[in-house]
Amino acid sequence: MDLIYDLTYSELEEYIVSKGYPKYRAEQVWRWVYQQKIDAFSEMNNVPQDLIEILSKDFSFDSMEMVIKNVSADGTIKFLYDLKDANLIETVLMKHNYGMSACVTTQVGCNIGCSFCASGVLKKKRDLTAGEIVAQIIKTEKDSGVRISSIVVMGIGEPFDNYKNLIKFLEIVNHPKGLAIGARHITVSTSGLVPKIKEFAHFGMQVNLAISLHAPNNEIRSKLMKINDRFKVEEVVDAIKYYISVTNRRVTIEYIMINEVNDSEETALELAQLLKGMNVYVNLIPYNKVKEAPYERSTLERREAFFNVLKKHKITAVLRREQGHDINAACGQLRSQNL
Ligand code: SAH
Ligand code: SF4
Repeated sequence: MDLIYDLTYSELEEYIVSKGYPKYRAEQVWRWVYQQKIDAFSEMNNVPQDLIEILSKDFSFDSMEMVIKNVSADGTIKFLYDLKDANLIETVLMKHNYGMSACVTTQVGCNIGCSFCASGVLKKKRDLTAGEIVAQIIKTEKDSGVRISSIVVMGIGEPFDNYKNLIKFLEIVNHPKGLAIGARHITVSTSGLVPKIKEFAHFGMQVNLAISLHAPNNEIRSKLMKINDRFKVEEVVDAIKYYISVTNRRVTIEYIMINEVNDSEETALELAQLLKGMNVYVNLIPYNKVKEAPYERSTLERREAFFNVLKKHKITAVLRREQGHDINAACGQLRSQNL
């Protein structure tokens, strides 16, 4: 059975009208689901009983069960969820000075196969439905008692490899009559699926886009990311330029710093040249060691030297601290099983 969270607002409207009820019933139902965050249709005390019965036959609220909740010293919380088909996914809640943000999973496993990432070790088993991605927001809010004000689509999986459901998810969580999470408070991260970056340029919502570049040339990038055999650095950069020209929005470049692999000053110079003049911002992320990969985190000294080269060449960059490392909830440490 579909989850009620699988429907966009207009799909819910269509459904309600198709059952012979006026459109305003859709707004009532939507508010119950996303503002009151009900667990059963029977809680809707201003909706006709026969409509409640119809909805209950077609849709469910039962998305996943929490298996483990792990709280980190810095306040980051990692949830392991058991889906209805027994696949496991993870959702992470992070505390910021501007509020709580959720990091959501889009797929069970990932097929992109980056050599540094724990999520990519298991082949993709399946895409999550839009409702399963939405449900992570509702569930983690309920399971933690906090209100989520921003979302990063950076959990397990490649969001642009589940494009249709990603778009539905974004429309659902952004809807002003529901969760109303502002587009500017949502960031989608991709490993660089070029055709989808171009398609996303025309999506029309002011969502932030982050690209996992991790190297300024094909030699290094191909070693780190299998996807680089399909979409070369130059193609990814062209797609970013296209995206910026259409949307006029600044793009985040994600760059994980791996010791002696992509973190030399020469590599920094190459990156600066590659990104020169582009409306981008480089996020330098300390690599988180995972047991599946042979890499080490760059030393602070090397990270700072890299940062300084970018700065000298007028590339906007930030040296990021990490979050949730002690509970394996940091970037790239999420797995589709509880290891
Ligand atoms: N599949 C998407 C989004 C999920 S990964 C993507 O790759 O962009 C989210 C971010 O975590 C990516 O930038 C990814 O490169 C990074 N990441 C993966 N493994 C990591 C690790 N071990 N340490 C630090 N960052 C990592
Ligand atoms: Fe997939 Fe992103 Fe991990 Fe690469 S970094 S394997 S694209 S989740």
